[in-house]
Amino acid sequence: MSIVKRVSYKSKWYLPGILSGMGLTFSKMIKNILSPKKMLTLNYPEEKYEYSPRFKGNHVLTVKKDGSLRCTACMLCATNCPAQCIKITAAEHEDPTVEKYPISYEIDILRCVFCGYCEEACPVDAIRMGPEWQTPALNGGQFNYDIQRLAYRANLKGGIQSRLDDNERHKAGI
Ligand code: SF4
Ligand code: SF4
Repeated sequence: MSIVKRVSYKSKWYLPGILSGMGLTFSKMIKNILSPKKMLTLNYPEEKYEYSPRFKGNHVLTVKKDGSLRCTACMLCATNCPAQCIKITAAEHEDPTVEKYPISYEIDILRCVFCGYCEEACPVDAIRMGPEWQTPALNGGQFNYDIQRLAYRANLKGGIQSRLDDNERHKAGI
């Protein structure tokens, strides 16, 4: 059985609906002009939203005091990554106290789901996710973040130092 509802007399006319919609838009516009500080939207890109430092945005590879990478190429981040978007090539370090280091570290940021598992898995605070969230690029290749981009991009001003130094690491037995 199908029930056919009769269209009400009022809804046959579009004009009242259009006028009430325009009235609402106009009243909001006047409100925004008179009190712009109460506006719920931002004039992007002139104004940008400041996320909390805990926001899981763009990755950072941290550095040691001497500016070299903190990463020991242990592969725990790549193993834990559910999107399998981390590629690391390890090499032996000339310093016998350092077991391995990455000669290449790449994150395919278009596959990344920003879950933060890489940061959680890292035993030496070598990878962090920060409040940066913009990832513009002009071609596909630029979405493969390499060591230069992850550790030494201009706004990191020479790199973010790891909380875990070599001496502390040896003391902790890591
Ligand atoms: S945030 Fe998640 S998906 Fe992105 S690289 Fe880290 S582990 Fe992989
Ligand atoms: S970033 Fe951390 S977890 Fe990933 S390979 Fe380097 S040391 Fe290991």
